[in-house]
Amino acid sequence: MTNQNVVVPEAMPTITVAAVANSPSLLPYPPPRSGGASAAAAIRKKYLSPVELNGGWANGWVESMKASSPTHAKAAAALAPALEYEQKELSAWTMRYPSALGKFEQIMSSTVGKQIVMFLDYDGTLSPIVDDPDSAFMTDAMRAAVKEVARYFPTAIVSGRCRSKVFDFVKLSGLYYAGSHGMDIKVPKKTKYTKKKRAVLFQPASEFLPMINEVHKALLEKTKSFEGAKVENNKFCVSVHFRCVVEESWKELVDEVLSVLKEYPKLRMTQGRKVLEIRPTIKWDKGKALEFLLESLGFANCKDVVPVYIGDDRTDEDAFKVLRDRGQGFGILVSKFPKETNAAYSLREPAEVMEFLLRLVEWKRSLSLKACTRAFL
Ligand SMILES: [Mg+2]
Repeated sequence: MTNQNVVVPEAMPTITVAAVANSPSLLPYPPPRSGGASAAAAIRKKYLSPVELNGGWANGWVESMKASSPTHAKAAAALAPALEYEQKELSAWTMRYPSALGKFEQIMSSTVGKQIVMFLDYDGTLSPIVDDPDSAFMTDAMRAAVKEVARYFPTAIVSGRCRSKVFDFVKLSGLYYAGSHGMDIKVPKKTKYTKKKRAVLFQPASEFLPMINEVHKALLEKTKSFEGAKVENNKFCVSVHFRCVVEESWKELVDEVLSVLKEYPKLRMTQGRKVLEIRPTIKWDKGKALEFLLESLGFANCKDVVPVYIGDDRTDEDAFKVLRDRGQGFGILVSKFPKETNAAYSLREPAEVMEFLLRLVEWKRSLSLKACTRAFL
């Protein structure tokens, strides 16, 4: 079995107050770029941030408004070299991490005769990233796609959210749910793949529950003066969302969070997409959760299994790395921008994730159909 309940206390939270201002771990993922790329990023932020925040539908409007505005047209001309640099950077990155849709046939041809197991992150993968984390709903179409995938392949949702919350979003039974970054796993009683007498709960950080509740209360108090800050109790971790906090206040907010953490050396802070995560210093992450789930499914030492993990955030890198180290399966990073990653492929956004899932189902059905046809010949 996977080593469980390994507690590795760390002397202090992983990010110190002094390091806050310049720490790459506190800057947006991807890390800032230097020179022209950095300028390009700043330019993009200045002119395109409404598009990024509101989704693709706004793109046409903003571009159309720019085109019809002489000021914007001039600005666009002045910015052309920086944007061109960024485009080249993106092209080079896409060569390294090609689109899982573009390489679909090639990917699938390597899985014939093997068992695919699907691992899906939730926020930013199945649902869009939105200002209010409580409103990160997945579409009915995405839910239908995940349901179809789960008909053909063992499927797990691996999220930083607490397990009950992510289940409330996904609303599909028969799946495996790993909440709190894998620190709260439920293996259902009976599925196509496992037949257990009762559902199995695996919670390697259960001893931290009282501490997490205490810290949650303290953080609510400390952050209440920050407009837009949202503290979420995810059972075995606490998230401090700062997506709606003005950038000028980020440093002060981090200082307040760290001032709480000073009292809790057994907790550490990490950063996701516009969120600070406070969690126990146990050696457990989404990568360990992936291994645990594979083991629960009976695939621990199986050579003919292809785990596919799709995620968009730093915390998903632990799972990508496990797959890379095992030399088995592959990670797919969901991102529109170049990022350092251990994934093998990329998809740009949840809409492409859905397309990939639907193609996977279609591919599986066509394989089954071919097998049936052969059997009757
Ligand atoms: Mg995510």
